[in-house]
Amino acid sequence: MTDYSAELGLFIDGAWASGEGRDASAVIDPSTGDTIAEVTHATPADLDVALAAADAAFKPWAATSPDERAVILHKAAALLRDRTDAIARTLTQEQGKPIAEAKGEVAGAAQMLDWYAEEAKRLYGRVLVRPTGQRSLVIRQPVGVAALFTPWNFPLYLLAKKVAPALASGCVAIAKPPEETPGCTAALARALADAGLPHGVFQIVHGVPDTVSRHLIASPVVRKVSFTGSVPVGKHLMKLAADGVKRVTMELGGHAPVLIFDDCDLEKTLDMVVPQKFRNAGQVCVSPTRFYVQAGIYDAFLKGFADRTASVKIGNGLQADTKMGPLANTRRPDAIGALVDDARAKGARVLAGGERGDAGFFFQPTLLADVPDHADIMSNEPFGPVAVTRSFETFDDAIEQANRLPFGLAAFAFTENGRRANLLGDALESGMVGINTFAISSADAPFGGVKESGFGSEGGSEGMDAYLNTKAIHQA
Ligand code: NAD
Repeated sequence: MTDYSAELGLFIDGAWASGEGRDASAVIDPSTGDTIAEVTHATPADLDVALAAADAAFKPWAATSPDERAVILHKAAALLRDRTDAIARTLTQEQGKPIAEAKGEVAGAAQMLDWYAEEAKRLYGRVLVRPTGQRSLVIRQPVGVAALFTPWNFPLYLLAKKVAPALASGCVAIAKPPEETPGCTAALARALADAGLPHGVFQIVHGVPDTVSRHLIASPVVRKVSFTGSVPVGKHLMKLAADGVKRVTMELGGHAPVLIFDDCDLEKTLDMVVPQKFRNAGQVCVSPTRFYVQAGIYDAFLKGFADRTASVKIGNGLQADTKMGPLANTRRPDAIGALVDDARAKGARVLAGGERGDAGFFFQPTLLADVPDHADIMSNEPFGPVAVTRSFETFDDAIEQANRLPFGLAAFAFTENGRRANLLGDALESGMVGINTFAISSADAPFGGVKESGFGSEGGSEGMDAYLNTKAIHQA
């Protein structure tokens, strides 16, 4: 059984708050639609207590050495690994993804903590030596209290991706993770607390997202806002942060193009593309979505894609043979169904799937061909198990199609031509480009978008920069 023995929702100043006297919302198993728990919502007074605790915790935490911070982060990573089976089970039950993917997510979160534990030791500055004898020092200092807003598609991993660099840099954090998946995000708070993290350094609050984010961002205590989620919500939070001129990192939506050139290894490409499309039921901000296929191999690509899609086993993520689980919440099947219906009405051919399931929040793995540019799905991120395809003739045609949207998070291309691969890397307007690979997210590499997909990077040394101020000290 999933461990719901502890309180879910509020971890404030080192303690779990009880649900008594507070609002709550249902936590739903998306494979059945059944309520499995309740998540406690913070009152305004709770949020004020969390802000005060974070404020008090900041200076002592910032004054710890990177080595001390690293010991705690490494210990929390080890605890996550020890607890993998229970955490992964909770994650699958709350979010729906297959258990193997959930275990991979726990491993990814632990790796994030380990990597930033070591990166904390490389917080170097610079010395500028002047002919006059003056020395100028460039140092970096933690920004302060960070408010972190994270989504439900990778609830544990994306939270760790913000928390690890924040804590490693000497910041303290108040997180509002998604209300859909409070059990697996609570597991991160437990691991950090059990590893010896002082009270108030990492706290979790839940509630109505807009109420919580307005309250936290309006507080002068918060100096940094980091959000992963949709473009409209990101724009809204940036406006709130602008009032206090607070630093922001925005990891927003994408609509990743995939350019398939006729010199690629087609069978190998299809073997990579199809599982990747349906990973986490397509609820991935860098999910391959718009497939532009060179005309000579278009029909063969569609046939190979449809054949492989037919064998994707859908079901409850706790069953070992499930390859794709349900969507994460009740809003998603309807939103995706509306996009598919619109494309169909505008002339797209449905070569696989296209319908939602009977129970739970399932949607079939879906392949659409010849989707016209004016179909909504060509501009609106489906964020689900839907691949849309069109053919192209020339390199320039493909680049124009790939870059036509206001988003620029990830782009992919498949070609065996090295010179073309170089040109693609330069020409695609996106924060990450994968050529003959989908492996574009790791602890040591920057991850972030351009255009309306956001700005600021997570991962790599750039991920630490997001939580550090630069100061120049000039000494004569
Ligand atoms: P949504 O825009 O309502 O919410 C997206 C996320 O933002 C959720 O986690 C939600 O809890 C949070 N959120 C919403 N309003 C907020 C507010 N005022 N303050 C703070 N947090 C807030 O959409 P949804 O129906 O939950 O998800 C659908 C869309 O969200 C998708 O189409 C996709 O574009 C986007 N999304 C993107 C990512 C990503 O990794 N970039 C992850 C999840 C969802």
